[in-house]
Amino acid sequence: MIWIYIAIFLIILFFLFGYIREIYTPKFTPSKEIIKKVDEILKNPINVAIDLLKKEVKIARISDKYYIYLHLAFLYMEIRKFEKALRLSRSLIVGAYIDESIRNRAIILVGEIYLKLNRIKEGLEFLLEHKINDKNYYFLIAKFYEQLKDYKNSAYYYKKIIHNLEKSPNLYSYIKDELKEAYFEVGNYNEFLDFLRNLENPIAKLDYIRILYNMGEFEKARDYFYENKEIFLSNISLLSKAYEIIKDEQIIKEILNISKNLNFYKCNSCNKEFNNFYIECPNCYRVGTLNVIYKKTSKSLEDIKSQIIEEYIE
Ligand SMILES: [Zn+2]
Repeated sequence: MIWIYIAIFLIILFFLFGYIREIYTPKFTPSKEIIKKVDEILKNPINVAIDLLKKEVKIARISDKYYIYLHLAFLYMEIRKFEKALRLSRSLIVGAYIDESIRNRAIILVGEIYLKLNRIKEGLEFLLEHKINDKNYYFLIAKFYEQLKDYKNSAYYYKKIIHNLEKSPNLYSYIKDELKEAYFEVGNYNEFLDFLRNLENPIAKLDYIRILYNMGEFEKARDYFYENKEIFLSNISLLSKAYEIIKDEQIIKEILNISKNLNFYKCNSCNKEFNNFYIECPNCYRVGTLNVIYKKTSKSLEDIKSQIIEEYIE
């Protein structure tokens, strides 16, 4: 019996405590002034940011000042104060003590502003006068040539992104659509095919095969696949995409071969695949996330085929 009284007492205490706490917690009611200020910021966040940077630039060290000016110029462009943005970013190019990275970013910004103002000839002239080796720079020049319907030159500069920068084949995905269109406009499709064929990038090689196949060059596509088999064998998803195009039973056999000889591991956190097992995922650094997806297998060709089609071919 006594336990029931104790329980009731505890329950009353519990609610009493909650009630007291409720009373003594100060209520937050924002003042009208703050609400007004917040409304202003939400209505025009860029203007607020500009005001902040303007205050900051007065007290910043000289080396930081240029960096702040660059951001200011960018913000002016965002709110369409183009002339102001242009003046500010151009001043960052001629200054003597300006860091090279800031200068390069200012050059690209000037190009972007000219493009937005549709002052194409002026912008192109400016960019060609201020040469830098940067992917955004080449991309902009290509865009200017596109505006002038000079697709030969735009293709040239899209290709420069890949040819002039380090580790360049990886940038293929970045420019592929624009480059293809530029070549298409010029009607020089063969040159595009040459470019694809010689690029050491598996996605470019896959695109090359796809185009050949669409042109009805089935034999050529198949030959090219087998010439570059090693590149495709490194990635089972690419291999199955190649199968999707060529529909060659031999590819399925290759996939079967790989899955017989190798174990594949897939991280269930970032979905990246690996040929080796790692305790810590080399991509997302989580521990214990790698799962085997292809073990040594005795599955039939048909099984593997349907499994691959299910998993990789959308
Ligand atoms: Zn991972």
